Amino acid sequence: MNIGVLALQGAVAEHIRSIELAGGKGIAVKKIEQLKEIDGLVIPGGESTTIGKLMRKYGFIDAIREYADQGNPVFGTCAGLIVLAERLEGDEEPHLRLMDMTVARNAFGRQRESFETDLDVKGIDTPLRAVFIRAPLIKEVGDRVEVLSEYQGEIVTARQGNLLASSYHPELTDDYRLHELFIRMAQERGQTHVGR
Ligand code: GLN
Repeated sequence: MNIGVLALQGAVAEHIRSIELAGGKGIAVKKIEQLKEIDGLVIPGGESTTIGKLMRKYGFIDAIREYADQGNPVFGTCAGLIVLAERLEGDEEPHLRLMDMTVARNAFGRQRESFETDLDVKGIDTPLRAVFIRAPLIKEVGDRVEVLSEYQGEIVTARQGNLLASSYHPELTDDYRLHELFIRMAQERGQTHVGR
């Protein structure tokens, strides 16, 4: 499976490494034309305002919305999760508006800048190692969203059809099982149309 990583800002090389460890081919995506060549797209962590601004500048907002609406898998991690959300807490403008959820930015950031933990994630048999860095939280989800994991009662991993989102960075450890799960979503997409 060819898995693209949106390469405008953020942890791009780390995701490519995890994709390759999970058995996929990782491709840095810098132009909208490249979306035609990939079986799934990762939107990495970084700074969501910057990523959103660059996405608008290079035409990625409409292009990724169309890509996802065709049933192609999209995986947002940390800032990437913020970019996927339909609603952001506060008066900030949402970006892709693809996933039916309300997200609070920097929700863990004030008390603890960053931390690592082991998380139970639906679909992964033993706890996943997760790194949180000024991480967002999913405050509320719509009916189409399946919650895959919680940390201290807060939603930190979720799926809506072909869309996957994590509050944390799964690419900063050697535990690549969330990338494996995403590659499986891309393989399933090859067999049937899922849609969001
Ligand atoms: N705090 C960042 C934001 O709001 C996200 C942090 C991250 O991606 N590690 O965009």
